[in-house]
Amino acid sequence: MHALCSGSVQGGTDLEKHRDLLVVENERLRQEMRRFEAELQELRAKPVAPCAGCEHSQESAQLRDKLSQLQLEVAENKGMLSELNLEVQQKTDRLAEVELRLKDCLAEKAQEEERLSRRLRDSHETIASLRAQSPPIKYVIKTVEVESSKTKQALSESQARNQHLQEQVAMQRQVLKEMEQQLQSSHQLTAQLRAQIAMYESELERAHGQMLEEMQSLEEDKNRAIEEAFARAQVEMKAVHENLAGVRTNLLTLQPALRTLTNDYNGLKRQVRGFPLLLQEALKSVKAEIGQAIEEVNSNNQELLRKYRRELQLRKKCHNELVRLKGNIRVIARVRPVTKEDGEGPDATNAVTFDADDDSIIHLLHKGKPVSFELDKVFSPRASQQDVFQEVQALITSCIDGFNVCIFAYGQTGAGKTYTMEGTPENPGINQRALQLLFSEVQEKASDWEYTITVSAAEIYNEVLRDLLGQEPQEKLEIRLCPDGSGQLYVPGLTEFQVQSVADINKVQGRALSTGTLSPWLWDQQPPRLYPEEAAALG
Ligand code: ADP
Ligand code: MG
Repeated sequence: MHALCSGSVQGGTDLEKHRDLLVVENERLRQEMRRFEAELQELRAKPVAPCAGCEHSQESAQLRDKLSQLQLEVAENKGMLSELNLEVQQKTDRLAEVELRLKDCLAEKAQEEERLSRRLRDSHETIASLRAQSPPIKYVIKTVEVESSKTKQALSESQARNQHLQEQVAMQRQVLKEMEQQLQSSHQLTAQLRAQIAMYESELERAHGQMLEEMQSLEEDKNRAIEEAFARAQVEMKAVHENLAGVRTNLLTLQPALRTLTNDYNGLKRQVRGFPLLLQEALKSVKAEIGQAIEEVNSNNQELLRKYRRELQLRKKCHNELVRLKGNIRVIARVRPVTKEDGEGPDATNAVTFDADDDSIIHLLHKGKPVSFELDKVFSPRASQQDVFQEVQALITSCIDGFNVCIFAYGQTGAGKTYTMEGTPENPGINQRALQLLFSEVQEKASDWEYTITVSAAEIYNEVLRDLLGQEPQEKLEIRLCPDGSGQLYVPGLTEFQVQSVADINKVQGRALSTGTLSPWLWDQQPPRLYPEEAAALG
């Protein structure tokens, strides 16, 4: 019994000790936590970048960002820490409660034990007193046996009393047993409480360990981040320094070039400043030169024009001389090839012969007798249209120079007049070629001279002069002498058309031919009209 009591007291003391230990541990943990917080605060206050003062503010801004991120993480962890603290606090409170309850239980148990031990003591005392009283009773019984029936009664009474006392002892024993059971259950409760305390302790330990681990990992993370940022900043700073060195050397090499460029620029600036004056002077001199050149060209032109006129005059003179020498009237013969109409045989082929050495002599057989003629020129049947035209070409130039020219074809029908003058479209004669030359010459001189070419066509038939381009072709016209005394003839009222090209002339000629006596139209028929639309078109 004593051993049990002392055991329970011993258990209470252990629990208290343990609680005290826990309280102390708790206090230590709090202190540690405060220390960590202070350290954290210090770290936060400390400048993160050891490269403070570095000129690369961008890098430092990045580092600052990283730091603020880390601070955020620390704040999060702090929140977690405070949660853990709260948990620890709750657990400590619950522990204190359990301790209180345990204390109450222990006090109750102590009281109960006290009460039970008191009752046990009483019971022992009673038993002892009863034992002390027993011998006299035995003795009484003995004496009763010896002495009398009266004593026998007293003996039975005492036996009953003894019985009662024995019952009381049994009862006491029962009570004692119950109390022992109670004590045992209280011991079990204590064990349970101890287990609970141990569990709480282990939980507390675990929470503490967890907190420490988390703080440590946070610390490590922070340190690692700072170290990484620092290393990166150092590497980048190194690169920047290298760049800076390169730029510096570049700058050093560029400086002389810059100096020369500046010098050049200044020189150019000076030149540019003087440029307008220079330009003005140059312009003035150029203007003067140009003026002079223009004057020179003008005078040259004048000179050339003078020379040209003189040459023109000379040419005219030469031409006139040539015409005078050749004769104002020249007679040229052209012999056409033999045609079917001429018949066959030597009469036809030998009618005309030529002089091999002189192209101005022609031999004829007249009534079987040879007759020779001397002309200005004789063309054989082999002569082309171009050969014939070349001979009269100079007359066209005379015409442009202002001379009156007349080419007159004479011969019997079928002799080749029309062929020589008009020709065929594939092989034109003198008229077409002369007109072509006339217009090309006029075109050439168009820049210096203004020419007006007009066409008129007249016919003398049966002593009657008629205007082939007039509105009234049957009207009779007169030939008169010019009143200016030049000896020239003119036909008053003769229709004239101004023409610009050979095509225009051909058109007019077509009209004249259709109106003429030899045209397929007869006088009683209406000739093709040129008025007024065509005339307007010809201008
Ligand atoms: P005319 O006008 O004098 O009456 P044509 O000019 O009509 O004569 O000529 C008569 C024929 O002779 C035509 O068929 C023409 O083609 C031809 N003829 C005239 N001269 C030549 C010549 N030099 N070469 C070839 N054929 C010619
Ligand atoms: Mg003819």
